Amino acid sequence: MAKFRSTLALEVPLLDLKAQFATIQEEVMAAVERVMASQRFILGTEVEELEAQIASLIGSRFAVGCASGSDALILALMALGVGPGAEVITTPFTFFASAGSIARVGARPVFVDIDPATWNLDATAVASAITTNTKAIMPVHLFGLAAEMDEIMRAADAHGVAVIEDAAQAIGAQHRGRAVGSMGRLGCFSFFPTKNLGAAGDGGMITTSDDALAARLRMLRVHGERTRYHYELLGVNSRLDALQAAILGAKLRHLSEWNTARRRNADRYRGLFAQYGLNGFVTLPVEPAGAFHVYHQFTIRVQRREALREFLKQQGVGTEIYYPLSLHEQPAFAYLGYKRGDFPEAEAASAEVVSLPIYPELTGEQQEYVVAQIARFFEAS
Ligand SMILES: *Cc1c(COP(=O)(O)O)cnc(C)c1O
Repeated sequence: MAKFRSTLALEVPLLDLKAQFATIQEEVMAAVERVMASQRFILGTEVEELEAQIASLIGSRFAVGCASGSDALILALMALGVGPGAEVITTPFTFFASAGSIARVGARPVFVDIDPATWNLDATAVASAITTNTKAIMPVHLFGLAAEMDEIMRAADAHGVAVIEDAAQAIGAQHRGRAVGSMGRLGCFSFFPTKNLGAAGDGGMITTSDDALAARLRMLRVHGERTRYHYELLGVNSRLDALQAAILGAKLRHLSEWNTARRRNADRYRGLFAQYGLNGFVTLPVEPAGAFHVYHQFTIRVQRREALREFLKQQGVGTEIYYPLSLHEQPAFAYLGYKRGDFPEAEAASAEVVSLPIYPELTGEQQEYVVAQIARFFEAS
């Protein structure tokens, strides 16, 4: 193993939103002032413009803004009429909202295990989990890497089951040249501040190319209203604020350059991990052929994870565990009757993953520092 070179202590947070804001402050503040001057805060032209831009970016005919990524999933399920008695297949290795949304509409989340290399749904397992009650499949493009959409779409189409893509972590990612959010019946995006395209608060969007679904989504987000004070469906209150839409519009112009920077940082990590002789100690994330990964997270797999995290924290390096407990083991889902051992790959991933700083403004010097500290840790052990 190469001797670590960098001795200068650096602070490397997991994410540095202030560094990003410094580069776009004027554009964002101009957007905020425009909305404040208009005093129009709910839906309206700012939201419509962002919807058109997102639809065009994704390559879907429609995009419908809503209050959060979690609501995007709930509204997508509601638009499809998924409710009590229905099963929806998804992954146990994801953020809670993927399965939480399924349970919130009264349907049953059915978990299948993940592929240990990509951490996304094991497409073969998806196909064998389909029953006559299956109404939808919800692949999650975890950490910015598209799920195995060809096989998932094939299985879904063969059984007449809808696919809802949870693309909350993957805006701008592609699978064989197709944008995530454009392949299933519906795609769901989150603008939570830490996502690759983040608002100044909560926000979400649903993409679809189906006229009827788009019309239902537009009603469902305003209580099910068709015309003013006439309600056709039982909907909810879940709108994207004009302020958030305006801020997101300003930031959207930079998304492609930010995703490119994340990819450059991932490449730099790969080079550094090789250079420091660490490839026998850590497993790096994969980018399968045909994938355009947008590295929402750069997640590695290690043994002795807790000790490594503690060491890195002492050296000023921020890390996080996405996710420490698979959803089938969460107390909130105890009623589903799953137990430890049901999804061994998800459980193994939960025990070994750790995410490193990958945000666009991260410098090469900071990355070398991170890898040098990891090398120090393994040298000492
Ligand atoms: C962030 C996230 C969501 C939920 O988005 P919110 O905007 O926080 O409600 C859903 N699924 C995944 C995979 C996420 O990462």
